Amino acid sequence: MGFGLNFFKKDKDGDNGKNHQNKKLITITNNVINGIISYSKMHHPYEAILILEGKRKKGEIYINNLVIPPFSVHGPFYSGFPINELPFDLKYVGTAHSHPSGSSLPSIEDLNHFYGLISIIICHPYDEVDIHAYNSQGKEIEYCKKQS
Ligand SMILES: [Zn+2]
Repeated sequence: MGFGLNFFKKDKDGDNGKNHQNKKLITITNNVINGIISYSKMHHPYEAILILEGKRKKGEIYINNLVIPPFSVHGPFYSGFPINELPFDLKYVGTAHSHPSGSSLPSIEDLNHFYGLISIIICHPYDEVDIHAYNSQGKEIEYCKKQS
């Protein structure tokens, strides 16, 4: 089963293939989408990583700001930062990072270093369709976009 092929299932209700645990609603503002895209392009061919800031209420996550992490390290194969050194702050809902290799899937490393509730991966060539959101189990979750 290809991940990218699930794209238009969004509007179908009662789809058997859909896990109800993944119904968590994620909203991302247009500014954040554009910020992730341009930051990733800027760092290519290196990985880029950003912290997602937002609000959570009743299982819904609203992402409206990006924060450049302290001590971020950019390398050709791995971009990481010491997650342990980040303050525990409820407004940090997750991270976004780029995959210059073009893979849209989270790596083992990504899942082992999961921070917050959501991990966004943007793969080369960094268009909007290259943005994918995952939960801590590595399952892709849908998001909707909001102007703001
Ligand atoms: Zn990764």
